[in-house]
Amino acid sequence: MAEPLIAQLISSQPDFPKPILRAARATYKIRRTARMGSGMFAKCKLKPGDLVLAERPVLVYPNHFLGDHNAAFETALEYMTAEDRIAYRKLASSAPIVAPGAGDLVRIATTNCFQMPPDIPGGSNDRYSIGDYRAMYLVTSRINHSCSPNTIADFHYPTFSFVIRATREIWKGEEITTMYAGIDGPKAERQARLAFCMDACGCTVCNDPA
Ligand SMILES: [Zn+2]
Repeated sequence: MAEPLIAQLISSQPDFPKPILRAARATYKIRRTARMGSGMFAKCKLKPGDLVLAERPVLVYPNHFLGDHNAAFETALEYMTAEDRIAYRKLASSAPIVAPGAGDLVRIATTNCFQMPPDIPGGSNDRYSIGDYRAMYLVTSRINHSCSPNTIADFHYPTFSFVIRATREIWKGEEITTMYAGIDGPKAERQARLAFCMDACGCTVCNDPA
């Protein structure tokens, strides 16, 4: 029997797609930060487990779509709404390491993408592993990395959305953070893992002189 394509695997999930989760109140706002460009800040006090936001990706692409694949991204952008297309082009493009020949759209993807998790039922095998894909989010991309993040992000296949929840109490006005790479080990190791998307981690842990 032929291997099912990833899109077919996803759309064959029971009741796919279930409605996306919505927070009962406005939980965040986006504004400039001192060191890290735009950031997301709590608009109200959040408790552990509270939903910050759930967001569907605006684009899912194979990991190998780098280097000279800018034309493929140009095509993908044609499928977005005009509003999403403008928002995509406004995302940061500061990744210090990109593949040779990468254009602006690839650079934006490298800076902002999140790896898709390989946990779709029936989705992990040699030919079609969902772990071989990355996703782009227009709002979630604004959340900065911290080596001591206050949220956890989990991709939820039935709603096809990235779900961000608080992992501890977050005060109104506090920056909401996530992790772009593993946060264990000493600072130098953490910085090395983050080198694909930033020159230096600007989080409070890495900048604590103690
Ligand atoms: Zn850090």
